Amino acid sequence: MSIDDPIAIAADIGGTHMRAALVTQSGKLLVRGAIDTRPDDGIEVAATRLADLVDSLDSRDSGKDHGSPVGFGISTAGPLDPATGIYKNPPNLQAWDEMSMKPTLEPRFGVPVHVGHDATLAAFAETRFGPHQGAKNLLYVTISTGVGGGIIANGEMVTGSEGHAGEVGHITVIPGAQTCNVGCDGCFEGNASGPAIAKAALARIDAGEITSIWEAADRDREKVSSKLVFEAANNGDAVAVALREHALKAIGIGLGSLLNIFDPEALVVGGGVTMGLVDRWDDVVTEVKNYSLAHFQQDPRLHITTLGDDVSLLGAAGLAFRHAG
Ligand SMILES: [Zn+2]
Repeated sequence: MSIDDPIAIAADIGGTHMRAALVTQSGKLLVRGAIDTRPDDGIEVAATRLADLVDSLDSRDSGKDHGSPVGFGISTAGPLDPATGIYKNPPNLQAWDEMSMKPTLEPRFGVPVHVGHDATLAAFAETRFGPHQGAKNLLYVTISTGVGGGIIANGEMVTGSEGHAGEVGHITVIPGAQTCNVGCDGCFEGNASGPAIAKAALARIDAGEITSIWEAADRDREKVSSKLVFEAANNGDAVAVALREHALKAIGIGLGSLLNIFDPEALVVGGGVTMGLVDRWDDVVTEVKNYSLAHFQQDPRLHITTLGDDVSLLGAAGLAFRHAG
C-alpha cells in the first residue's frame, strides 16, 4: 500500500450491534471495532457513537500507509430508501423510522455517506471481492434467523421501487406448511430459517413423537435449534431426518425458483442454517436441481460464501468505492 491508495470507512448496523472498519480497495480490513446499537437512544446518539468508534479506529490504524477515506458506506437492516438512507418502518430499529444517519455523519467526516440494505450489499460484496469478483448477475441468499436475499442483475443492485426488493424469504414454497412471523403461508423463511426448523421440531415433540433432539436440548424448549436438529439427523434420528428433508425441500424450491428467474452467474448462500448443512451440501445441490430448469442441471452455480461475517462491511466499503468512481 502507498499513501495514494484510497480507503473507505465501512459500517454494518443491526438492531443489536454496530460494526465499523477501515477497508482498502482490495477488500482488506485494516482495523475494525464494534459497539452496541442501543437504537432506543435515537438515531443521532447512535450516529455520534458510531462516529466516535470510527475515530477510535483511525487512531488505532498505526500504519497509516494509505490515503484518505473516499467515502463512508453503511450496510444496514432495512427497510430503507437507498437514495436517501432514510429508514422506512424498520422492525429492528423502530425508533429510527423516517430518519437517516447522513445528517450527522457527512459533516463530521467530510465525505459522502452512502447507505444500502445489508442483503443487497452482501450480494454486491460478492461481485467485488472474492471468487465471484466481476460477476454481473449474482444472487446472495442468507438462511439464518430469517431468510433474506440480495440481487445484482446486469451489474446493478436491484432495490425495487421503494427499497423492498430481495425479500426472497417470503416467497411461498410449500403451501399449507408452516407460516413465518409475518404470517405468510408456507414461505421459504417459515420452513427453512433456524427458528422455523426449531418450531417444527417442537411441534413434533409436542405431538408425542420420540426424538433424541429433546434430550439433546436438555428438555428445554429454548434450546431446541436447527443445529441440534441437524446433529440428530446426522446420527440417524428419524424425526430429525424428516425435519431436515422438509427444510431441504423448502430450500430447493426457493433457490431453484431464484435460479430460474434470474439466471445468475453465481447463487451464493450464507447464514447459520447453510453452514449447518455444509456436510450435506450434495443434498442441497440435488434439491435445488430438482426445482430448477434443465440448463442448471449440469451446474446449478450454487456456492457457499467465502466472505463470512465480513460480507456486510465489505459491501458497505464497496458501495463507498463505487460512488467514488
Ligand atoms: Zn413469510
